[in-house]
Amino acid sequence: MHIYPDAKAVVRALAPDEPIILNRPHAAARAARFFVQKFPGKSLYAVKANPSPDLLQVLWENGVTHYDVASIAEVRLVRETLPGAHLCFMHPVKTPRAIAEAYHKHGCRTFSLDTLEELEKIVAACADDAGNPATDLKLCVRLRVSSEYSELSLASKFGCDLTEAPALLQATRQHCDWLGVCFHVGSQAMTPFAFVQAIERARAAIADASVVIDMVDVGGGFPSIYPELDPPPLEDYFEIIHKHFEALPIAYNAELWCEPGRALSAEYSSLVVRVEKRRGEELYINDGAYGALYDAAHVGWKFPVKALEDDLIKPEIGFSFYGPTCDDADFMEGPFLLPEDIQAGDFIEVGMLGAYGAAMKTGFNGFGNAEQYVVEDEPMASLYRGDRVLPASDNVVSLR
Ligand SMILES: *Cc1c(COP(=O)(O)O)cnc(C)c1O
Repeated sequence: MHIYPDAKAVVRALAPDEPIILNRPHAAARAARFFVQKFPGKSLYAVKANPSPDLLQVLWENGVTHYDVASIAEVRLVRETLPGAHLCFMHPVKTPRAIAEAYHKHGCRTFSLDTLEELEKIVAACADDAGNPATDLKLCVRLRVSSEYSELSLASKFGCDLTEAPALLQATRQHCDWLGVCFHVGSQAMTPFAFVQAIERARAAIADASVVIDMVDVGGGFPSIYPELDPPPLEDYFEIIHKHFEALPIAYNAELWCEPGRALSAEYSSLVVRVEKRRGEELYINDGAYGALYDAAHVGWKFPVKALEDDLIKPEIGFSFYGPTCDDADFMEGPFLLPEDIQAGDFIEVGMLGAYGAAMKTGFNGFGNAEQYVVEDEPMASLYRGDRVLPASDNVVSLR
């Protein structure tokens, strides 16, 4: 595949009629090495953030050995792409056939659950032909925790309540020699205290259950960096998680896991779009709510943007975007700061779309194609480059 220096070079060479996804393997490699070297435990990549096989390969080559998969299609994809990967099926509601295929055909041993029904399903689906139960299951009980410090909640759908957790932990312990607890604090957690609060909930459940816990999985939620969402350094998250993990009443050799999706993939991709029409301060572009800009439309996320023409003048003003489909909801309010003389025919790069961007594209209304190219320049922002100016101290949580 042709490699370009940056988005401008792509636009000059191709003047693309359709949106284009630009991938930065070097940025994903740097993120993977950061987690592998600095997180005080094991880092699983949450595949749903971006299931691109090229990205999976980059993460694998840079030390990520475990993959959080949530559907049988993700199980098959990771197994096909990375034959040596450890698969962890962390969706708490699975079908018996999906569990059986993951266990018997793809070597998956780690499953999460948040009800007794799911436990029974897993035990039945993993038994052998004679009905003997599996003896090598690694089971994780998903606890419900608060999402109050996160930009995107994951609090209401999954996880068992603290009142039910002790009984479920005790029941699960009967079926496995390796028992974990897991939770998810919500995506883009803007302070490490999100994890402190969740770990304290886990402590209460573990203490009440009086069972041996072999693993604590603090889930995803590690932030990336976007306009107006400038988090404390990830080192602060790691330090505070480690400190609170160490104080838990668990097996002396218990493992600490995390499941970053966004933090490992956000810097991997950007998107090149073209302005097809301008109406005042609204730009009609060729990707949107049903494409890679789902979060820009549905949760008002402000991704960084850059005009790719050389002849535009400053100052920049705020624009809103309309996507290409005929749906009024295909609207991204922004504001996105761009030169005030931008016009139809001009190209724009939208940055930080490696997580929940490229992965969200649909074919609705006939739009959805996107060629992918590799570029060598830096992502528009990075948590891993080492030259970041930290946010004001009121946003940084003291570790003492
Ligand atoms: C989505 C998800 C993740 C990844 O979350 P991020 O906020 O992208 O880090 C991890 N674990 C589970 C169970 C998830 O559903």
